[in-house]
Amino acid sequence: MHRFSALLLAIVLLAMPASLWATADGEGSSPAMALQRLQEGNARFQEGRSLHPNLDTARRLVTSTLGQKPFATVLACSDSRVPVEIVFDQGIGDIFTIKVAGNVADTDEIGSMEYGVDHLGTPVLVVLGHTHCGAVTAVTTGAEVHGSIPQLVDNIIPALEATRHAHPELEGNALIDAVIEANVWQTIEDIFKRSPAIAKRAAQGKTAVVGAIYDITSGQVRFLGEHPNQAALLAAVPADPHGGGDAHAADTQEHAAAPHQKETMPTAPVQHTENAAGHDAEAPQTMAAAHATPTQDAHAPEAGHEAKSGGFGFFSFLLFVAALIGVVILLDKTILRPEDN
Ligand SMILES: [Zn+2]
Repeated sequence: MHRFSALLLAIVLLAMPASLWATADGEGSSPAMALQRLQEGNARFQEGRSLHPNLDTARRLVTSTLGQKPFATVLACSDSRVPVEIVFDQGIGDIFTIKVAGNVADTDEIGSMEYGVDHLGTPVLVVLGHTHCGAVTAVTTGAEVHGSIPQLVDNIIPALEATRHAHPELEGNALIDAVIEANVWQTIEDIFKRSPAIAKRAAQGKTAVVGAIYDITSGQVRFLGEHPNQAALLAAVPADPHGGGDAHAADTQEHAAAPHQKETMPTAPVQHTENAAGHDAEAPQTMAAAHATPTQDAHAPEAGHEAKSGGFGFFSFLLFVAALIGVVILLDKTILRPEDN
């Protein structure tokens, strides 16, 4: 009798991580839920009441056995003062993180984001700039850079040019701060122009693509919302999801075209501090689509993707259950039985 209770308890305890994993499923969350989770995590971090979730052995066991199901993709700067999981108070398997100096979106970064957004299906993609960004400062002040850094920071130059054009009065730290924000918008533009896959998920409302600025002093992440011109940017994306060449050509043209940057800038400083409520001024249609999609979406366009991840997930789950049974039997033989005798 005692042995049976102990067995039951062991099964429940071991099965708990699996159910936690199921609720943390990125594909099961809406963009609004995912954003709220990031906002709440950052509020905890900022106020010194971090929970440090999902860092234990059980989480490692579950994520290594069942695979990763991150609920967010975050592109952030490599700066050591911007530790993404810590800033959002998340743990193992929660955030698909891409870090690169200046949070720019060039080929490798976009490919990495496509893993998170398109392959793993995260409902949110955050482009996270930060205050006191060295890469943006270097570009803004015209600092001399060497090695491979010029090819990296040239992605930031359009943001500087756009800011100078829209706000010629800015200088010093005010100019740097403005370029940091413009660079977030520039990165989102680059993503939409060069990744039809991400643009498609954004257009379908499956993934919210939002900008944010992390204040390395206060610890606060200020969410900026979707790109002010998201609808126009998405409308310009080639229909062919594998049209990478076209997208790149469009990107090259766009970098040369200053007038488009000008449009972006005047609206860029508008603050969006709430995930949904703050969007009404800039992009009501796109957020409405994001909220409406979970009920309208019949999964038809993503059938291949569902089969890919869903099928593997179920097989992994069976393996996991088999492993659980094995552990319980082992426990029964080695630990619990002697107590009975
Ligand atoms: Zn930086």
